[in-house]
Amino acid sequence: MRAAIAEADVGDEQIREDPTVNRLCEAVAERLGKEAAVFLPSGTMCNAVAIANHTRPGEAIAAHRHAHIIRFESGGPAALAGVLVEQLEGDRGHFSADDLRHVATRGNAYIPRMSLVSLEQTHNLAGGTVWPLDQWDEVCLVAHERGAAVHVDGARLFNAVIATGTDAARWATPVDTVWVDFTKGLGAPLGAVLSGPADWIEAAWRWKHRLGGALRQAGMMAAGCLYALEHHVDRLADDHARAQRLADGLEAVGMAVERPVETNIVFFDPVPAGVGPGDLCERLAEEGVGMGALGPRVRAVTNLNVDDEGIDQALDAVAKVVAGV
Ligand SMILES: *Cc1c(COP(=O)(O)O)cnc(C)c1O
Repeated sequence: MRAAIAEADVGDEQIREDPTVNRLCEAVAERLGKEAAVFLPSGTMCNAVAIANHTRPGEAIAAHRHAHIIRFESGGPAALAGVLVEQLEGDRGHFSADDLRHVATRGNAYIPRMSLVSLEQTHNLAGGTVWPLDQWDEVCLVAHERGAAVHVDGARLFNAVIATGTDAARWATPVDTVWVDFTKGLGAPLGAVLSGPADWIEAAWRWKHRLGGALRQAGMMAAGCLYALEHHVDRLADDHARAQRLADGLEAVGMAVERPVETNIVFFDPVPAGVGPGDLCERLAEEGVGMGALGPRVRAVTNLNVDDEGIDQALDAVAKVVAGV
């Protein structure tokens, strides 16, 4: 990847003359079965651009209450797009078509119009969970019946693709816009690509400029993304297998693991093993193992920097902490 980055052909990205960025956008649009795509520095900016470009201030959008756009984007939907966010409940990061039906409205003089429904695939805070395809299709159908567009936060869409065997274009078929991140399990240093209809992507360029996401010789970064697309997608299966092994090992020392583990994210409650989330993560850091405490839960994520030995090392470190308490 470093070599591909060094050798990339580049141009001025913001006047659309960077050949490597253009190649990446074409490749992603094709992979997702969409007309066009735009390169952005981060996934968060993809969500910001998408939400702003799908809505008008004062409208509403729907998302699961644990969605990244609500929990981790610094209030972006409210601050940048001026929208209300209707927070839907549901197991494993998924809400039902019926629950959506209750809130999706074309609006009137009193009631804000719901112009967008946002889906997260895989769902981060729910534990890397994958939407059941029939529920996904049904939710999209209800959204469209009610005049709302559907946007997908596909930070880890390729994890869902690898876990299910359902290709990215199939997941993208019933939705309007979808982006993928190259900096999570795919391991690139920078970059995400947002795709959708050509005229919508054209309008999204205004938000890309407005937010400072129009770039110069971004082809270097796009080259890393292209490398990841070619070499790091199929290997996500290894991350998923390692997450399973990690989950089994954590259970063996008394951790309460949230099951099933579907992709590369493992959430667990360490209290049954006698240690609190913050304490555990601090002590693991001393052993060179990175896990994150999120409220009462600990999150461990496998990725291309964690090999089989890394899982052994993590489990040894966890066992050591547990033995110490
Ligand atoms: C990481 C993540 C994002 C944000 O992506 P960045 O590239 O870090 O800005 C958005 N949504 C989900 C579900 C994520 O996991």
